[in-house]
Amino acid sequence: MKSQANSTPLAIVHYDEIALKGGNRADFERQLVRNLNDMLKARGLPLRARNARGRIFIEAREAGAALPDDWRERLRAALSLFPGVAYFGFTEVAEKSMEALEALAPVFVERLLGHTFRVSARRVDKRFPLNSTEIERAFAAAVFRAAPDGALKAAMRGFRRALQVEVLEHAIIAYVKEPGIGGLAVGSSGRAVPLLSAGFDSPVATFLMMKRGVKAHPVHFHSMPLVSDEALEAAKDLARRLSDFQGRLTLALVPVLPIQEHIREHAPERLRIVLLRRSFMRLACAYAAEIGALALITGESVGQVASQTLENMRAIDAAATLPVLRPLCGMNKREIIDLARKIGTERTSARPCDDTCSLFLPRRPETKAKLEAVLAAEEKLDLAALEEEALGGRALAHFIFGEEREKREN
Ligand code: ATP
Ligand code: MG
Repeated sequence: MKSQANSTPLAIVHYDEIALKGGNRADFERQLVRNLNDMLKARGLPLRARNARGRIFIEAREAGAALPDDWRERLRAALSLFPGVAYFGFTEVAEKSMEALEALAPVFVERLLGHTFRVSARRVDKRFPLNSTEIERAFAAAVFRAAPDGALKAAMRGFRRALQVEVLEHAIIAYVKEPGIGGLAVGSSGRAVPLLSAGFDSPVATFLMMKRGVKAHPVHFHSMPLVSDEALEAAKDLARRLSDFQGRLTLALVPVLPIQEHIREHAPERLRIVLLRRSFMRLACAYAAEIGALALITGESVGQVASQTLENMRAIDAAATLPVLRPLCGMNKREIIDLARKIGTERTSARPCDDTCSLFLPRRPETKAKLEAVLAAEEKLDLAALEEEALGGRALAHFIFGEEREKREN
């Protein structure tokens, strides 16, 4: 479409190219553009994303159509935590002359006030009379001239804000680069099943794997009706928030009370937690097989609680037939909570609630479970049928970019 080639982007999105050496680059770009378009549509923004040689243009869907007043804020909130977006910027457009570009300087003074900055220029149109170094010098000087004395600092190294100029075929655009989270577009690394509790850790773990391109299909295990629905509602709220980063997200709610009761009645008290976690692993693996997922994700961190020792992890892992990804395993609680705050899950996770395990907690849980002892205890149990029933009894909750939907949407 000719009109597209000449359209001027309202915003620009860049991805991490270092991550993209090799043949999967085109697939990655397509995936990111698709995810961005899904997001724009779901958020009701009359914009579209288009791949434009090494970066992505965000344009008006219809030329001249009115945009909501707060479109920048809404887009910024989405892009700053969007997997695959390394940085982005809102463009100002000038005609193709240095004078017209320099006339934009006051706009950028406002955006750069109090910051160190650096101008980088790039010419798509090589016929432009100034080369990129000359554009950089001239525009930086114009921004300085427009600023009150001493309000701005320029730096070549250690700069805090980058002011990017691009000379396109039909116009010049300039924007301040704002940081995204980088990583890979969700969907470019296949599927995994996060074990999503109502706590701090598993939502953060899920987010970190989404950032590596993994599409999450979380499961939450609940003990209703013995406990209230607080934990289940918290898990749903967390899944809803996580869908902001992924788009379509389906949460499976699996009832495990009969499994817990069986373990409580028939297994040594100290091993309850490890045995229940092994059950979780088998359930999650069976679910993963149904939906074509290749790994599980948990929020475990070595040594964080008594049950998360290497011995226990080994005993729990042995029940899984898929790799268990533990992106938090080397992180401290403080680091995890800081991330939870950044991604907006902290408050929900902090909500007190009775979850599956608190009612079931032994007085002295095993911290160094021997796999052999666990297997011996498990042999005396009769879990296969109960696990099949639990998985069959699951309910699904569907979300798309922060909203719950009755049905899965295509
Ligand atoms: P979290 O903050 O994620 O709840 P935690 O520090 O409380 O983690 P545990 O309660 O020992 O740790 O749980 C370890 C991991 O097991 C969790 O991170 C989560 O992945 C999984 N898990 C625990 N409870 C549930 C549950 N009810 N449903 C699904 N997964 C769970
Ligand atoms: Mg927990």
